[in-house]
Amino acid sequence: MVIDYFEPTTVSETVSLLAKYGDDASVIAGGQSLLVMMRQRLVSPKYLISLKKVGELNGVQEDASGNLSIGAATTHRDAFTSPVLRRGVPLLCQAASKVGSTAIRNLGTIGGNICHNELGADPPQALLALNAKAVCVGATGERTIPLEKFFTGYFETAMNPGEVLKMIEIPSPPPGTVGVYLKHALRAGDLAIVGVAVLLGLETPSKKCREIRIGLGGVASVPLRAYKAEQLLQGSVIGADVVNEAAYVAMSEVDPVSDTHGSADYRRKMVGVFLKRAIRQAADAASKPGSDV
Ligand SMILES: Cc1cc2nc3c(=O)[nH]c(=O)nc-3n(C[C@H](O)[C@H](O)[C@H](O)COP(=O)(O)OP(=O)(O)OC[C@H]3O[C@@H](n4cnc5c(N)ncnc54)[C@H](O)[C@@H]3O)c2cc1C
Repeated sequence: MVIDYFEPTTVSETVSLLAKYGDDASVIAGGQSLLVMMRQRLVSPKYLISLKKVGELNGVQEDASGNLSIGAATTHRDAFTSPVLRRGVPLLCQAASKVGSTAIRNLGTIGGNICHNELGADPPQALLALNAKAVCVGATGERTIPLEKFFTGYFETAMNPGEVLKMIEIPSPPPGTVGVYLKHALRAGDLAIVGVAVLLGLETPSKKCREIRIGLGGVASVPLRAYKAEQLLQGSVIGADVVNEAAYVAMSEVDPVSDTHGSADYRRKMVGVFLKRAIRQAADAASKPGSDV
């Protein structure tokens, strides 16, 4: 089959091409997931619209208040090596650094990752814990979708046909918060059996939790926030009992499937194990003034 390949240079040109070719067209960013799907004949686009030359989709911007925007076509490597992101949202850098292998991080993009929405991807749960939003552009204009409403099911998102993800916006995290991302996979380079992202802020010296956000991945049809566990921790003095209880609550908030990497029961247990570890690490770091993980 012959595939026509386009290299637009603007978002509006990209959207026009998508409108023209409809369901026969697909945008391609790093190609790390799309080309696998094409090789497996799961999708067979007749028109490929590359995002490589769309300058607007690349790079990281920070405003005067520390709010960040990340172009959708920013690669995982560029994300985790970005000095701006390392300073502002080290939690996302940790997650991006755990994606697949060096080759995949060099080519795969943050935008492609969340649009593909594969079970066990790493950046989504970090972005959820950072209250990120997806900015999409279509023929009728631009709209912003909070990330917790963006993921709608396995390989599905709230984006409409013909829309392009332009960027991911991240509000400046509350001062003094610490981020920890932990990934549990059987082998290096695998998708996560469980991915846990924690953003934590403590009052000192009381260790009372003043900010807690928990993102979980690999353990339900969509990456999710563990709101009930967060509620339990918010305002509590962080110690072994409350952390154990929060881990137990988080295990009840997930709905994992069994597959060749692990049973549903195992994944649920690993949520508890890795959440406890992540909270402890974040709490240790947050207790040290001026430190960040
Ligand atoms: C062997 C292997 C191991 C991997 N391991 C991991 C891992 O451990 N953790 C992890 O998180 N990920 C992993 N991945 C996935 C990797 O992160 C991919 O980079 C990512 O899923 C897709 O990014 P991409 O830029 O390559 O997107 P592409 O493959 O180009 O596109 C993927 C999908 O998203 C759509 N798309 C892309 N960009 C946009 C946009 N801006 N707007 C609208 N639609 C868009 C495409 O049309 C396509 O449907 C792995 C992939 C492979 C092949």
